[in-house]
Amino acid sequence: MPEPISLSETFHTAFYDAEEGKLGLWQPNPLTDPAVAALARKLHGDVNSSLEEQRSRIVRPAPAPQLYFDFFKYRKPIAEATERNEIFLIGAADALLTSLSSLIEGLLSRPQVLAFLSIEAKGNDVDRKDAQDMLFDLVFLFVTNHEIGHFVHGHTGSQPEEWLEFKSDPVKRLPQQAAEIEADGYSTFATLNWLFTKRSPIVEGDTGARQKVEAVLLRLYLLAAFSYLEMGSSRPWRWHCPETFTHPQYLTRVDFIVGHSRGWCERHAIEHERNLSQAHIHEALEGVHNCWHQPDSRNLERQVKDLTSGPYASWEERIREERSRLRQLLEPFQLIVRDYS
Ligand SMILES: [Zn+2]
Repeated sequence: MPEPISLSETFHTAFYDAEEGKLGLWQPNPLTDPAVAALARKLHGDVNSSLEEQRSRIVRPAPAPQLYFDFFKYRKPIAEATERNEIFLIGAADALLTSLSSLIEGLLSRPQVLAFLSIEAKGNDVDRKDAQDMLFDLVFLFVTNHEIGHFVHGHTGSQPEEWLEFKSDPVKRLPQQAAEIEADGYSTFATLNWLFTKRSPIVEGDTGARQKVEAVLLRLYLLAAFSYLEMGSSRPWRWHCPETFTHPQYLTRVDFIVGHSRGWCERHAIEHERNLSQAHIHEALEGVHNCWHQPDSRNLERQVKDLTSGPYASWEERIREERSRLRQLLEPFQLIVRDYS
């Protein structure tokens, strides 16, 4: 009888080729720094126990599939989701871990970010440290919840045939773009649920004091999601071939994330909708501008000009329609999760 394959082995064969590594390239191991390696171990434990908890809430299919998280070696700070032997695998590149701390430190040294979070620029190191830790958790959570969103919406399976054809079509990628928006939507709801239930500090005093703290939590979420996605801001959007991109443009994703956040507020905390005004969103976008220090970074005006030089409104509408179509097509393969809304 063959030896059972461990979760860790399944993970590594799913993300690497035994001979060639990931994408034909073996990467150096950056987790040799003891502090980073310890953080990786901690996150490995935390994320897997949170996945266990989430698994216990999966109503369909029954029994619920196994979920497993680990790091893979890759030089870009990305995450991916895949299925192997009926196990749902979520991988984060170790480059995400190594770049996240300095990214967040950089963000919290920006006066406009501190002002956005109502942290005094001078003297309040405790608030700054709290915000730093919370942002780290939130970026990580936004990214991993996005990957879980792909499982929940049924994007990672090999059925139905029509979806498989979409996934392998290099030219017509509108369904894939719609799937990314769906995964961002799941992530927004799951991350805000976590933030407002598990991490929301108990605030003494009146409702006003509590609302103030919660408004900052919501702003931290916006900064976390936008700063991660800002990586894609240097990519120009080409109107002559918009369907060739696997992911929608950065500002399109931001636009939908704001919409998902409004949806979350409507359901759970209507008083916070006002924290999602255009002025607030603009402030958050300015705050994270070029946080990845990319040499080909493009400022907001240029990105907006780029997007609005074509039929932007009808493009967003097409993505919206595609989302509904995908939901119908993949309905039998979606996970039903208790207490998720
Ligand atoms: Zn995705």
